[in-house]
Amino acid sequence: MLGAVVSAKTNQLVRLDTNGLAEGSTRALFGQDAEALAACMAAIGEPRWRGRQLAEGLYRQRVTELGAITTLPALLRGRMQAEGWRVGRPRIGQVFVSQDGTERYLVEGVAGPETVETVWMPEGDGGETGDGSEEEGRSWDRATICVSSQVGCAVNCQFCLTAKLGLQRNLTAGEIAGQVVAVLDRQGVELGKDRLNLVFMGMGEPLLNYDPWMAAVRLLVEEVGISPQRMTVSTSGIVPGIERLAEEPPEVRPKLAISLNAPNDAVRSEVMPVNRKWPIEAVVDAVRQVRLRSRERITFEYVLLGGVTDRPEHVAEVARLVRRTGLPVKVNLIAWNPGPGIPYAMPQPEGVEAFKRALVAEGVPVYLRRPRGRDIFAACGQLKRTVETGAMPHSAP
Ligand code: SAH
Ligand code: SF4
Repeated sequence: MLGAVVSAKTNQLVRLDTNGLAEGSTRALFGQDAEALAACMAAIGEPRWRGRQLAEGLYRQRVTELGAITTLPALLRGRMQAEGWRVGRPRIGQVFVSQDGTERYLVEGVAGPETVETVWMPEGDGGETGDGSEEEGRSWDRATICVSSQVGCAVNCQFCLTAKLGLQRNLTAGEIAGQVVAVLDRQGVELGKDRLNLVFMGMGEPLLNYDPWMAAVRLLVEEVGISPQRMTVSTSGIVPGIERLAEEPPEVRPKLAISLNAPNDAVRSEVMPVNRKWPIEAVVDAVRQVRLRSRERITFEYVLLGGVTDRPEHVAEVARLVRRTGLPVKVNLIAWNPGPGIPYAMPQPEGVEAFKRALVAEGVPVYLRRPRGRDIFAACGQLKRTVETGAMPHSAP
């Protein structure tokens, strides 16, 4: 019974050391919020406002070395380093570049040896053709970063490659926010000028690592400066997590996407065993508790699995289901991305188009998600720390 496994995992969230590291080793600053940084300064006899200088350095200037926070006196920096304090931000270890401009990174965490995956998806220009013009300057005018929340995943959706890893561990707040800051740094993103979206759709189930994930969101909103309205968290339908999200104030709550992926409970339980614990109606009830901002919509993601969830008769069922919720919903169709050892078939391209057209005809707002970075295993559900892609890995600078 997978549901039991999930609930056991829910109750066993790994407790995280806010410093990210065990006693006696180096101490990571990255991941701590302004309050914790102020307390850290006070603890060594410095004024609390120096915590703000630290936060500016870590999250706005994106420093990777304590020595680079020049607003802090050199003596203090030296003393902190001597006491074992480090920035401790996750680093991009390996880079895989897709023909479509997507980049997949293996990011080295700080609280464990495992790498996690983060994906950069630039949009809107010739860079997508992969003609090399990227080298000459900025090749994008908006971009999305896909962020991981766990190493592996416990949810066991039958079509997902990440599920094959099982849950290896939860990421800390610093490791989640650090993926974003490392990518912003690499790409030279200027927040406020560049249009940037974040999607928590990488490895793992964010709502099964709720506290560290939400702490990362708060850091990204309050310190890094990204609006929660530009962030979307995707969940397989973890009801207690959705209920907690509904309690978050609108100033920090990301938008919500539900991985529906099936037209009814019978099919959903087959492809997503978590549905046996929290069936569609229970998920929708929890979603109803979220107080939506004006014009905000809930996204239903719908993976088209050839012959399983893409049949013509499924269209009307999905449309009925969407209408019954009474919620402002848009449906994001995703053609299933294949992975080794996963016994499903890709949908026929004509079938995907037909499914979309039929849903539109039913009056449902539908978007078809373009697959990104399939050649480097960066597309949805392909994140499994694959190193053998056939594409050339580039070393991080
Ligand atoms: N665990 C969360 C977020 C990560 S998965 C969740 O499941 O929602 C992000 C999205 O990728 C989900 O909508 C999931 O259904 C979809 N997905 C997983 N495997 C896929 C695959 N092989 N092809 C296409 N989409 C996939
Ligand atoms: Fe986990 Fe999401 Fe993959 Fe399901 S689809 S196994 S919840 S990462």
